[in-house]
Amino acid sequence: MLRAAMPMTRVVSSRLYLAGAAVAGMLVGLGVAAAAVRALVRRVSRPMEEMSEAARSFSEGRYETRMQPAPAELGRLSDAFNEMADRLARTYAELEENNDKLAGILQGMDDGILATAPDGRYLLLTDRTRHLLGNPAGGWEEGNINDGGPNYLLIRDILRSAAATHAPVRGEIHVTIPEERVLQVFATPLHAPREEGALAVVSDVTRLRRLEQVRSEFVANVTHELKTPLTSIRGYVELLKGGERDPQTTAQFYEIIEIEAERLQALIDDMLQLSEIEGNRDDPGTVQAVSLAEVAAETAERLAPVAEKAGVAIHTELDPTLTLRASRLRLEQLFYNLVENAVKYNQPGGEVRISVRRERKFTVVTVADTGIGIPEEHHDRIFERFYRVDKSRSRQLGGTGLGLSIVKHIVTLYNGDISVVSHPGQGTLFIVRFP
Ligand code: ADP
Repeated sequence: MLRAAMPMTRVVSSRLYLAGAAVAGMLVGLGVAAAAVRALVRRVSRPMEEMSEAARSFSEGRYETRMQPAPAELGRLSDAFNEMADRLARTYAELEENNDKLAGILQGMDDGILATAPDGRYLLLTDRTRHLLGNPAGGWEEGNINDGGPNYLLIRDILRSAAATHAPVRGEIHVTIPEERVLQVFATPLHAPREEGALAVVSDVTRLRRLEQVRSEFVANVTHELKTPLTSIRGYVELLKGGERDPQTTAQFYEIIEIEAERLQALIDDMLQLSEIEGNRDDPGTVQAVSLAEVAAETAERLAPVAEKAGVAIHTELDPTLTLRASRLRLEQLFYNLVENAVKYNQPGGEVRISVRRERKFTVVTVADTGIGIPEEHHDRIFERFYRVDKSRSRQLGGTGLGLSIVKHIVTLYNGDISVVSHPGQGTLFIVRFP
């Protein structure tokens, strides 16, 4: 029989050893586990942090931000995010491009565009609008239409009425700054998703309104001009029908009728000329190199009897080499009207000088007289149709008030310009310049 024994102290110490080993093993195990967990958490949380950083950067408008590739599930998330980011970046770029295109179109428009929020802040104000209305007082990028100054307040009122009625409103305003203009404003409410403002299209109709006015004035003038001689003719015809008159009176009446009929004829001829020139109805076949000296000399000859009767001498100073590509008939009309006026509005013993010369790159025609002259305040207006400085004098001399208007139209037709220098009592100088 074998019996093994061990002293109790050793038993106790080996139990202690075992317990120690077990604790140490556990600690090592825990340590390893903790390290493993930490590594795992790191693997997940680092990309998560990066992802949330990327998402924040993206949300702040840096659309080029992309997520790093990440492992496993997170990888799918980062791929999805990057795909979404690609799409959003593309959409944003397209939107920006469209915006630029739209802004380009709006800026390039001949009409001004202006849009405001309900509180009056500018949402859009194109360069053309600022050209038509002037720069708004109080700036425009951060500004408000309520502080924009008188022109902007006029537009604001139209915008307000469009916003209030929820319907388009058309209005017309007259501005004097930066220039005298008539502006048509078409305002329409803006149904933006968040705030409701209004948009105005501002068109410059100054020229149109002026043309309309000129046309209606022209019709009124023509009617008046035709009526005067017609009334006179009818009056004398009535008188002649009315009873026996002595032959001298009868002859006088016939003469008046003849003068009035001639006046009617002159008026109609002048109006026809004007409308032909305005309609630019020059037969291209009639445009040729015309010697200005030749036309000037012919005009002087044609008017010689009239000038002689008026006691006026006509002198010429003509460069025979100068020609102009034009219709000869138009040039005859031009010279005739200028020289006839110079004789008509002259005084006995007076002179008329016609000159045709070259001045640097221009061909210059001048008609100077020593006549009654034209006061300065009329200089701008004498080229208007039916404008006369002295109505009764012009009528008496058989004027239609259309001569200078015809001249101006012909000069413009051939790209020239005309100016006048005149002092009452001293005479008048008309200068026509062709390039
Ligand atoms: P009209 O048929 O009345 O002469 P125009 O158009 O030729 O019409 O001229 C317009 C006005 O300009 C005339 O009525 C006249 O008052 C003035 N005018 C034109 N030419 C002269 C001139 N050479 N001297 C003075 N006044 C002139």
